[in-house]
Amino acid sequence: MSPVVGRVLVIEDDALNRELLQTVLEGAGFEVLEAADARDGLARARSHQPDIVLMDVQLPEMDGLQATRSLHEDPETAHIPVIAVTAHVKKDDERRCLEAGCSLHVPKPVDTRTLPGIVSRVIAESARRGQADGQREVS
Ligand code: MN
Repeated sequence: MSPVVGRVLVIEDDALNRELLQTVLEGAGFEVLEAADARDGLARARSHQPDIVLMDVQLPEMDGLQATRSLHEDPETAHIPVIAVTAHVKKDDERRCLEAGCSLHVPKPVDTRTLPGIVSRVIAESARRGQADGQREVS
C-alpha cells in the first residue's frame, strides 16, 4: 500500500462523474470524500478538513461558485483550495471561477491523465502559501 498523498473532497451532483473522479484520484493515492450538493459539501469540508475541494460549478440549489465563496468566508475552511470543474469553457466562466476564489478551473470532460498531477500541484502551492502567511504573522 502506498501512502495517502492527500485528501480530496469531491462536490458533484452527478453520480457517474463522482465515481469517475473517485476512481482516478484513489488510483493516484488520494483519499476521496464525496458530497452530492453544496450544503453537504460545506458540512464535510468543515468536519473532515480535506486538503482540497474539487467543486462542480453546476450544482442544484447553491451553485459551485457560491459554495466556494461560503467555504472561504468560514474561518474553519477558508484555507482549503478549490479547483472548479465545469462544462463551460468560455473565458468569462474561467474568470468568474477565479473571482469566486477558485485556484484553478478544469473543463469537463476532465482529463483523467493530468488531473492527479494538477490536484497535487494546487495542494502544494496552497501549503506553501499557508506557510508564508504563517511566517508573516509571526514576524
Ligand atoms: Mn453538476
